[in-house]
Amino acid sequence: MSLSAQRSLIVQIDQLLPQTQCGLCGHRDGCLPYAKSIAEGEAANKCVPGGQPVADALAILLQRPHLTAEPSVWDIQTDGRPQRMKAIIREDECIGCTKCISACPVDAIIGSGKLMHSILTDLCTGCELCIPPCPVDCIDLVADPEPIPTAEQRTLEQNQLRQRYYAHIQREEKRRVSRKGPIVRAEIDIEFFAQFSQASNNIPTITLADKPKENPVLDAKTTIELAKTRTQIKKLEKQLSVRPDEQKQAQLIALQQRLNELQEI
Ligand code: SF4
Ligand code: SF4
Ligand code: SF4
Repeated sequence: MSLSAQRSLIVQIDQLLPQTQCGLCGHRDGCLPYAKSIAEGEAANKCVPGGQPVADALAILLQRPHLTAEPSVWDIQTDGRPQRMKAIIREDECIGCTKCISACPVDAIIGSGKLMHSILTDLCTGCELCIPPCPVDCIDLVADPEPIPTAEQRTLEQNQLRQRYYAHIQREEKRRVSRKGPIVRAEIDIEFFAQFSQASNNIPTITLADKPKENPVLDAKTTIELAKTRTQIKKLEKQLSVRPDEQKQAQLIALQQRLNELQEI
């Protein structure tokens, strides 16, 4: 398959994915990396929020055998997908630490330092990524009370979510070069999104900031510790996105603090 045919296939696969960007398929950076991996041969039944309808649509697109979708912890709706969820902040308990804001892939949380935060319910996809970083555990998930979207509404919603996620990635990339605040989510592989988006007309373009990623004067020991810390953070985030665990959450916070210290060297 030519490179452009491969890219076109990835875009078609991505268009069938819900754009929740939750990472439950095992691809921490969301739907596009999973789409690429499916095009390269990975099984197409791992999108948990997409459920059986998405697994079946992908099997048809790819002309592969139909597989049973990975199960969700939520009940199945009448459209065959898992229950749509929304996050809600118990605002009287929120300490305004801002950690949930950076974690949200679609920028659905508003608030600023030391002030109460709120979730823009219409934008929330229920991806759960804001829950592990919250130090006071004041974010709940509730079933979405809105009617199940039609196919047209879903396509529109997915397009909007993709746009919002790419805007989030682009902003994170700009922040990377002048970052002062905490890193809540392990850094997204922005180079992949930049390369892919610049070669494709169908998705929003992402550009890399000029400043190099690593500080060139770091000594070898610090560089190794930085790499190890990032890997451990990614691993823990993945585990916590599937199942909450207090001990692992505490380890994650300690590692994030260490990462911040190392990045300031
Ligand atoms: S919605 Fe979540 S599980 Fe489905 S492809 Fe996107 S990131 Fe993966
Ligand atoms: S508010 Fe939380 S659950 Fe909702 S989209 Fe953002 S990170 Fe996901
Ligand atoms: S992470 Fe929790 S405590 Fe911090 S701002 Fe968000 S909701 Fe409030």
